[in-house]
Amino acid sequence: MKFVADRMLGRLAKWLRILGYDTVYDRNMDAHSVLSYLKEGRIVLTRGRRFRKERLQGVVWIQDDSVDRQIRQLMDEHLIDIESKSKFLLCSRCNTKLLAANHLEAEGHVPEYVMHSQKKILWCPSCHRFYWSGTHQERMRHYIRTHVLPAKEHQASSGKE
Ligand SMILES: [Zn+2]
Repeated sequence: MKFVADRMLGRLAKWLRILGYDTVYDRNMDAHSVLSYLKEGRIVLTRGRRFRKERLQGVVWIQDDSVDRQIRQLMDEHLIDIESKSKFLLCSRCNTKLLAANHLEAEGHVPEYVMHSQKKILWCPSCHRFYWSGTHQERMRHYIRTHVLPAKEHQASSGKE
């Protein structure tokens, strides 16, 4: 599943990349670009009011402003599966596929302790950011466990839409 998010959904786009989903962030999405994204096979995610009523195949109107509810909505609509999808493969900033960096390449770009303690360092060939598993990823997982997953139970028990 590939996505494109409109200008209201920058945080969601970043999260989808972290979760392993190819997601374009387009601040200037208009009717014309929506059609070309659909042709590319991307699901269009939008907060745009016109799509609230106008149902268009492949366009998902995002109901909530909070990013955990937005992720939850995509899970409920079976558009994403955060359990099985491989995470941390895409640059969260620019949506480029991350590559493995050897220690020589990583030297000077990552903290000393990472060089010594981490086995796997990844880097983005487009914006030259380095990534490694550790506290950052752990925090992301923790956020999903504490914010996104419980939202389901909460919603179910409160009976709210
Ligand atoms: Zn990047």
